[in-house]
Amino acid sequence: MIGVVARSEEHDVVREFFELFKTPWEFYRDDGCYEVLIRADDAVGPKSANLVIVYGSQPTAFDQETRSFLGRQRHDATLSWNGDRIPVYGRCVTLAPDPEVPDLVLEDTREPVVAMTRANGSTFVRVGYDLFREIRFLLTTGQPSVHAGIPTLERHIAFLRDVIVSAGVPLAEIPPIPEGYRFMACLTHDVDHPSIRLHRFDHTMFGFLYRAVVGSLINVCKGRTPLTTLWRNWAAAIRLPFVHLGLARDFWSQFSRYLEIEKGLGSTFFVIPVMHDPGRTVDGPAPMMRASSYGVSDIADRLRPIRAAGGEVALHGIDAWLDSSKGVEERERVSRVTGACTAGVRMHWLFFDERAPERLDEAGFTYDSTYGYNETVGFRAGTMQAFKPISARRLLELPLTIMDTALFYPSHRNLTPKAARQTVGQLMDEAERYGGALIINWHDRSLAPERLWGDFYVQLVDELKGRGAWCPTATQAASWFQQRRSAVFDSVHREGDSVRVKVSAGRHLGLPGLTVRVHTPPPPDGDRAIQWQQPRRFTDLAFRSALDTHVPLGTLGAS
Ligand SMILES: [Zn+2]
Repeated sequence: MIGVVARSEEHDVVREFFELFKTPWEFYRDDGCYEVLIRADDAVGPKSANLVIVYGSQPTAFDQETRSFLGRQRHDATLSWNGDRIPVYGRCVTLAPDPEVPDLVLEDTREPVVAMTRANGSTFVRVGYDLFREIRFLLTTGQPSVHAGIPTLERHIAFLRDVIVSAGVPLAEIPPIPEGYRFMACLTHDVDHPSIRLHRFDHTMFGFLYRAVVGSLINVCKGRTPLTTLWRNWAAAIRLPFVHLGLARDFWSQFSRYLEIEKGLGSTFFVIPVMHDPGRTVDGPAPMMRASSYGVSDIADRLRPIRAAGGEVALHGIDAWLDSSKGVEERERVSRVTGACTAGVRMHWLFFDERAPERLDEAGFTYDSTYGYNETVGFRAGTMQAFKPISARRLLELPLTIMDTALFYPSHRNLTPKAARQTVGQLMDEAERYGGALIINWHDRSLAPERLWGDFYVQLVDELKGRGAWCPTATQAASWFQQRRSAVFDSVHREGDSVRVKVSAGRHLGLPGLTVRVHTPPPPDGDRAIQWQQPRRFTDLAFRSALDTHVPLGTLGAS
């Protein structure tokens, strides 16, 4: 059992941290019995445990007692650990070099940020940054886009897990991986332009014509796209008047193509509640360009096949993030048209602020999927896991990871298909490594001229399937994370040469089960208190609603 000593104002973020690192823990009690104690409070306090891990960027009472060397303080530094980068957004402090501790160092100067001492039969590991302040920053403000590709929060968990297991403590956790799969991926679509027929002589129509006729030519000349895209786009531009006259098919109408590509997988479509409403920003009216040319009732017929195929229709919100009564109104508008309860929301143009989760929660949504980047792809919260934003009571955030426009727009990453494939592949590598859900947003018109990002999308879906992703709707993904959050470790303790693990969880029918992963520590090596350079060894035990078993410590498989 892990005991945690933290300042009371950090208790909310500690609770959420241990939903993401789902392992037995509690806030320190005087009568508790702990193998591991995590101290993040700067104060003089309890310290009796086999392993005490002290986090902090300021001198602590522990440092005075142990006369620890504290070096320079840094702000906004990046750490390096076993070749992985971990950006630190608050302060961190360097510590005395020690050959026994792992290379958690400042990336630029190679000065250590971790130290170890032993006293009275306990091992003390001092880590020179404020773990829970870092987690709060990631879950509320989010990483700057320059570090978007780094799953920072997962790396904080991985480092802590490694310290504990390397110090000889067996550790049980429930990883964010659905049983039978490697990770999750949600295929979602913001429906901004479901029909080009709705755009007659407006900026969207002229923008389309310019990009189809001139932009495609430039892209072909630069070698960015093949000649076939030019013919297809020019042909679409020529067809446009006939589409408006009702004599040719509306080529921006792409729902059925999505359903074909995503057959057998979950799809989620976020739809706009009302036409011609740009909504508001914090300071006043939003630009008119944000207003949509349709409202959900205009596409009611086209939403039916989505729901019939097992897909989900959710809200693409206008003002729900700013005002919970607007949130209720927008949610109900969609529910009335679909005839089903609208569970989720993603804000149009990704409008959001720190209080938005609280307002969306109040409006009755069970999940939001806005927290991400407009300008790039990656992990704003430093994780692929759904989390409960600190200001929310029960709403989960499914952080947006990959958006088509961020990959390909000239004003954003402006990647070629080859470079985009590589970028997306790196994000999938991280998902395979840490689990969680890649939330993908491919806009409704992105398969059509002039974007023609359909071939890329088909390959992306194939690769996800090939890599063992479970592709549920966003509501199903949120339910799976709720199921994991409901899990309670009734007991994890050593009994002779084995670990007794007893865990229970609320069962959600129709969803993949959970897994308990038991990490076994390396065998003792002389008087070394911590053995860092061991291959990680663990065993996985799948379960549905309850598990009570003994895991022998000597026979766990290596991974
Ligand atoms: Zn939108």
